[in-house]
Amino acid sequence: MEHKQERKEFRNLVQVEEARQIINGLPAILGRKKTGLENALGKVLAEDIITEINVPPFSRAIMDGYAVQAEDTYACSETSPVKLRIIGELAAGSGKTYKLCGGEAVEIATGAPLPEGANAVVKVEDTALYFQTGSGLLEKDLKSQKVLVYRPSTLGENVMKAGTDILKGERVLRKGRKLGVREIGVLASIGKAEVLTLDFQVGILSTGDELIRPGGKLSFGQIYDANSYTLKAGVEECGACARLYGIVEDDEEAMQTLLKAAASECSLILSSGSTSAGAGDVMYRLIGEMGELLAHGINIKPGKPVVIGLIKGVPIIGLPGNPTSSLMIFNEFVAPFLRKALGTKSEFKIREKGILGTNFRSEGRQQLLPVGLIRGKVYPADRGSGAITSLAGADGFIEISPETEFLEAGTSVEVNLFGKVQKPDLLFSGGSCLGLDLLEDLSGLSFRMLFTGSSGGFSSVSAGTADLAGVNLPSVVEDKTGKKALLYNVPTIKELGLSEVVLVKGYKREQGLLLPLGSKLSGLMDLPGKRFINRNLGSGTRALLDFKVSELAAEKGLSFKEFTASIQGYRSGAKSEVAVCDPLREGKADAGVGTRGSAEKAGLKFIKFAEEEFDFLLRKEILKTPEGQKFLETLSSEAFAAGLPSGLRVYERTGECLEFE
Ligand code: AMP
Ligand code: MG
Repeated sequence: MEHKQERKEFRNLVQVEEARQIINGLPAILGRKKTGLENALGKVLAEDIITEINVPPFSRAIMDGYAVQAEDTYACSETSPVKLRIIGELAAGSGKTYKLCGGEAVEIATGAPLPEGANAVVKVEDTALYFQTGSGLLEKDLKSQKVLVYRPSTLGENVMKAGTDILKGERVLRKGRKLGVREIGVLASIGKAEVLTLDFQVGILSTGDELIRPGGKLSFGQIYDANSYTLKAGVEECGACARLYGIVEDDEEAMQTLLKAAASECSLILSSGSTSAGAGDVMYRLIGEMGELLAHGINIKPGKPVVIGLIKGVPIIGLPGNPTSSLMIFNEFVAPFLRKALGTKSEFKIREKGILGTNFRSEGRQQLLPVGLIRGKVYPADRGSGAITSLAGADGFIEISPETEFLEAGTSVEVNLFGKVQKPDLLFSGGSCLGLDLLEDLSGLSFRMLFTGSSGGFSSVSAGTADLAGVNLPSVVEDKTGKKALLYNVPTIKELGLSEVVLVKGYKREQGLLLPLGSKLSGLMDLPGKRFINRNLGSGTRALLDFKVSELAAEKGLSFKEFTASIQGYRSGAKSEVAVCDPLREGKADAGVGTRGSAEKAGLKFIKFAEEEFDFLLRKEILKTPEGQKFLETLSSEAFAAGLPSGLRVYERTGECLEFE
């Protein structure tokens, strides 16, 4: 799409600083509204909050024990306790009270108001009960009950005085404060059910004929509307109120109607899509017609197509359609504007320092580069560099100035996080497997997956982009008798000359033919003449199948080429197991290749032809990290062995570490 967007030049491309100035100069009309406490999280307070009560409202016990006059206990000790008469008991919230005199005690629970006359609470652990009975038997008779106190208490001990937490008349929260978890707690404890908050209405709309609301059914060529929801979440994280106007088709009249409605109801409009200079993109023209166009296009990559304008005096920012670009432009330009308008600073850390994990070549243009941030290491996450793809793989972005042409691995960079992100613990590449999900669940670690196939796993671990990779790449080796056999992963490591890596032996995995349920095929020998979906070259599954097929061909006195020539689609290359299963279910193919797990998940028939070794390739330093250790521990655990789905099993080599210097 970048391609299309660059087809036509923008008329007045503005520099980044200028764009910031234009946006920060936009009018911001704020209202105030009453907000119930249960909906107040993240909102900005529009009034000073002055408490009308003390918290706590009365002096209360902070321990279970006995309310006493401290003076009565001064002389006591472990060996000579003082005996006090119990005149009653007080539970929290009972509403009862007592008047306590010298020589008396009231049994008191944590949170109960201190009785009049008392000035300390003796902890129950420092007392013993003494029952005075005529017969010498122990009896519970409150009237004659005494308590023995073994430790002198001090004035005010274990008592929280009225107003110690919050004093009546105090300004507890100031206007402009963003309401977080703690602030909500404070408001509740002073009895506020609702507060005045700033009301900055931001209307959000997505444009495009291809968009479908999440939850709906996709037809061919359609995609789900991601931007409405990321933008809504972003707006709310800033403390403003998001109002969703939904999807509007690529129709000027429909767009105009919706923009008009939004302009009459909101203080800011955010649209996405239809901003580039291509023929079908109209946002900039519409804004020009309906109001005033302030800028079209910012000199930044990506997200160059940004439109800024006013409709009926209401600012509108037209963001790019691409979800990652749209979010980056939101974070870089819109969020600061919202925070400034609301008078808040971002109270959570949205910038974090990291070390670049790979070399990166820039284009000599101001750039926002999406990155993943994993244990302090920063990895490019843009499609171009092929490392992590798009929004799901990125935690934030770094800004690269036009002067920078090359960033070396090891450079310290500052990451602008996409809000409060939860960062992954380990970055995985290589092949996908159900066993990985189990490892993630059992270890409590969070994995970021970059499914690249086995070969991609070897290269990304050696390049340092990934922490570890799931690999199942077999190589054909000859034993002493000249018999051909498969050896997993080790020959590839040697061939590539990888150093500073560890191969951790994983588990065994059944591979086989995947067939539609009613299929009559019974094995590899039945494949000639059939329509077949193979896996991509570079995947371990493909390599294993090639080996099995050449064995079979040899038995039949054929070459591999001769045997596979008659299998339609043998040279195809589905990039994932799902891509193999879908056509089989839809009757578009007669057979495919994959694991037992994927067959079961897709409701397909499975005929096993081999059991392979699924291993993990790690960079050596990863093994030393707590995350690496936890991973290894989980792999070798009984819970893992017991929890593996059918078709996967641990064996005597599971957890074995082979080091390559
Ligand atoms: P546009 O700026 O309208 O040309 O859109 C650029 C790209 O972003 C296209 O591939 C659109 O399909 C995609 N896109 C536009 N809006 C959205 C959206 N709300 N959610 C996800 N993708 C979108
Ligand atoms: Mg569009």
